[in-house]
Amino acid sequence: MKLLIKSGRVIDPSQNLDAILDVLIEDGVIKDIQGNIEAADAQKIDAQGKIVCPGLIDVHVHLREPGFEYKETIETGLRAAVAGGFTAVCCMANTNPVNDNQEVTRYLLKRAEEVGLARLYPIGAVSKGLKGEELAPIGELKEAGVVALSDDGQPIYDSGFLRRALEYAKYFGLPIISHAEDKKMARDGVMNEGRMSTLLGLPGIPAVAEEIMVFRDIKIAALTGGHIHIAHVSTAGSVELIREAKKKGIRITAETCPHYFSLTEEAVRDFNTNAKVSPPLRTDADIQAIKQGLKDGTIDLIATDHAPHHPLEKETTFEDAPSGLIGLETSLPISLKLVEEGVLTWPELIDKMSCKPAQIFGLKGGSLKPGTVADVTIIDPELTYQIDANSFFSKARNCPFNGWKVKGRAVITILGGEIVYQHGEIKPRTI
Ligand SMILES: [Zn+2]
Repeated sequence: MKLLIKSGRVIDPSQNLDAILDVLIEDGVIKDIQGNIEAADAQKIDAQGKIVCPGLIDVHVHLREPGFEYKETIETGLRAAVAGGFTAVCCMANTNPVNDNQEVTRYLLKRAEEVGLARLYPIGAVSKGLKGEELAPIGELKEAGVVALSDDGQPIYDSGFLRRALEYAKYFGLPIISHAEDKKMARDGVMNEGRMSTLLGLPGIPAVAEEIMVFRDIKIAALTGGHIHIAHVSTAGSVELIREAKKKGIRITAETCPHYFSLTEEAVRDFNTNAKVSPPLRTDADIQAIKQGLKDGTIDLIATDHAPHHPLEKETTFEDAPSGLIGLETSLPISLKLVEEGVLTWPELIDKMSCKPAQIFGLKGGSLKPGTVADVTIIDPELTYQIDANSFFSKARNCPFNGWKVKGRAVITILGGEIVYQHGEIKPRTI
């Protein structure tokens, strides 16, 4: 089976490539990239005017299965992924049962294989039941296929426990992903602490609730030599701490999410529960610092923290609504605003949405080098449209970008050399 992508603008930061080229795919791998490839027996895709890049990778999603299938399932989540241009996602462990044992990891992998749309990389829990008390069987989880460890949703309070966990994780070559939030500092906060929380009379979560934990994590990474990846960076202070840590050579990597560089606390003004997220949306000064952090490499990558909830769960008071918003089907167009604003170049954006995620977590893809798996995303950079949450493949609708006019969309998603999404249509793999 051969696929020939003709005349697209091929952007592959993993090999410093940005040129109009043809891409030949054969037997599931990238065979050749040249100016003019002829292959009479190949299925051809005309990519003129389109961007051809390594498949996008999202290292932070919640697929809710097992246990919360009414919010999202592996199937609906992976459908949303490929529709958003993602060929691989990493799923967090806060399911029910928690992914703190081999059975759950194997179940996730088996379901993803059956769905046949995108690669699924499970993230194992650091602690049994996400309780922060007893270590999960890290070696067994690694053997079953987890690519990282995280108690995401919950911070790890016990610093001695985190130190020990990181020592084990280092031994097994796994990063620990930190949900950096001192909930005791945040108390019953539901939004950013500042002018808007005072105005709305809602309890706030100060920026330092995040920064205290980022600082602690950096110190423990330095002490152990282990790798900590800071999830969903939301404050200017966190960006500064991570920048300084990297200068010292400490093994810290970091992600932010599209909502932290495109929305401020203003978004919750009308008590919009779809803008309630953990950590909370911050201020314009934080947005500027995050953009700078993305630009200078302090923030390595963009992830969505895709967190589906049932519409009825969000239809309540702001205080009672669960935190989280979905992102798989909006991440690319919202992130593309960074290119439009001149914050990032196209190659820099692709690097943060594909190459860096693959490099940091040791995943397949993230490159179009010949011999690499043929996970490819084709983007129409000029396509303008209005975001319509009701048209999402995700089960959930908790999207604060609903109704936004955006530009740029994934039009074809290719997994292992097979088209799994094309112009609004999902096509599961046949093998
Ligand atoms: Zn989190």
